Amino acid sequence: MRLVFLGAPGVGKGTQADRVTAQFGWPKISTGDLLREAVKNQTALGIEAKKSMDAGKLVPDAVVIGMVRDKLADPSCQAGFVLDGFPRTVPQAEELSAILKDKGLKLDRVINFRVSRTDVVKRLSGRRSCPKCQSVFHIDFAAPKVSGQCDRCGAALVQRSDDKPETIEARLKVYDEQTAPLIAYYQAKNALSDLDGSGDMGLVYGRLSTVLVGLGAK
Ligand code: AMP
Repeated sequence: MRLVFLGAPGVGKGTQADRVTAQFGWPKISTGDLLREAVKNQTALGIEAKKSMDAGKLVPDAVVIGMVRDKLADPSCQAGFVLDGFPRTVPQAEELSAILKDKGLKLDRVINFRVSRTDVVKRLSGRRSCPKCQSVFHIDFAAPKVSGQCDRCGAALVQRSDDKPETIEARLKVYDEQTAPLIAYYQAKNALSDLDGSGDMGLVYGRLSTVLVGLGAK
C-alpha cells in the first residue's frame, strides 16, 4: 500500500509510520530523517539544509523531491511505502504524483492526522530523540526506561534543535501556510482520510489500523 501521512509537526506521524512498517513491512520514507542524516554526515546538502531546519523553515522543494525520487526507485519500495513528512507543499504533491505516474502507480491513501494545537506543542516540547538510531521518546508520555538514555541503543537522548519553543512556533506557522492547503488538495481528489491523532500511541494505532484494514491492507 502506498500511503502519505499528513499533519502538523508533532501529531505523531513518524511514530505511527514506524508501527505500520513493523506490522505491514512497507518502508517509512521520512524526509526529516533523511535530512537529519545528511546534517549528521555534514554533506553539502546537509550543511545547506540545516540553516532552514534550524529556522523552522522548509528546505527547497527540489532538494526533498530529489531525495524521495531516489528512495522510491529502491526495490524495497515496490510493495508499498509510507511517506512521513512529504509532501509538505502543493508543488511537492504534484511532483510525487508525476513520479508515481511514470511508474504506472498512484497513492492508495493520504492519512490526515488531527491533533489540537495545545497537544501538538506539548508533544513537540517534550520530545527527545536518539541521534544514533532515530528512536523517539517523550519526557511525559513515552519516557525511556533510564532517563536521558535510548532504550534501543543506549545513546544519550537529545532535544532536536528545531523542537525549541521559538522554532516550534515557526514550524507551525509554516505548516498552516504551506502544508495545510494539501488537505483541500487531496480532499478534492477523494484521496484523504481524517484520523483522530489524540490520545496515546496505542489508541491512535488502533484507529489507524482500522482505517488501513478497511482499505484492504493485509
Ligand atoms: P520533520 O522531522 O518531518 O518534522 O522535518 C524536520 C525539518 O526538515 C522540517 O522542519 C523542514 O525544515 C525539513 N523538511 C522535512 N521534510 C520536508 C519537506 N517535505 N519539505 C521541505 N522541508 C522538509
